[in-house]
Amino acid sequence: MTRIGLFGGTFDPPHLGHMILAAEAFHSLSLDRIFWILTPQSPLKDERTISSVQQRRELVLAALQNVPEFELSQVDILREPPYYAVDTVKILKREYPGTDFVYLMGGDSLRDLPAWHDPNQFVQELSGLGVYRRPGSQPDLEILEKLCPGIKTKTTIFQAPQIEISAADIRQRIREGRPFRFFLPPEVYQLICAQNLYR
Ligand code: ATP
Repeated sequence: MTRIGLFGGTFDPPHLGHMILAAEAFHSLSLDRIFWILTPQSPLKDERTISSVQQRRELVLAALQNVPEFELSQVDILREPPYYAVDTVKILKREYPGTDFVYLMGGDSLRDLPAWHDPNQFVQELSGLGVYRRPGSQPDLEILEKLCPGIKTKTTIFQAPQIEISAADIRQRIREGRPFRFFLPPEVYQLICAQNLYR
């Protein structure tokens, strides 16, 4: 069975924190590939402050162009909102029969899983959840197991380096004329400069 990791985000822009995390997941969870699922809009973020999906798509393609094990997935770009993760996984399972899908998320997201749309079904659809530690989050799998039976055995917690990089900080640095180059894959840096983005 092919094992594919699903890594969702707004990627505005994609940065080295994302790359390092995905590489660690790829290795620790023995994945064959990772699909980067670009979310047109996150229910948790103010969409007016987010760059266009076309612009972010170009940036993700630049970030991934020399990394064959990472691939941009258009699944959420090509459908209508709302972008519930449970539906994203259902569509991918139809498109890629015979594939094990492992959803990557931070411990903070796992803790908030009960607030997601249809969390029980979401967990049922998946082969596994790959959970990385984030500062200040200690999800309680016993509590989650009551809501989503099976989640405990499906969850693998893996260690990833804590890199203090966020897209919001990079955008602010660019606006303020502070250094930002070395937070990014070189291809993303070049594209941001060439197109004068985030000014
Ligand atoms: P923003 O700063 O705009 O909120 P972000 O940098 O957190 O964005 P997202 O696109 O929202 O980027 O992140 C996608 C996924 O990557 C999320 O699951 C998030 O937890 C994770 N992530 C973001 N930054 C890091 C980092 N430095 N190290 C590890 N994981 C990260």
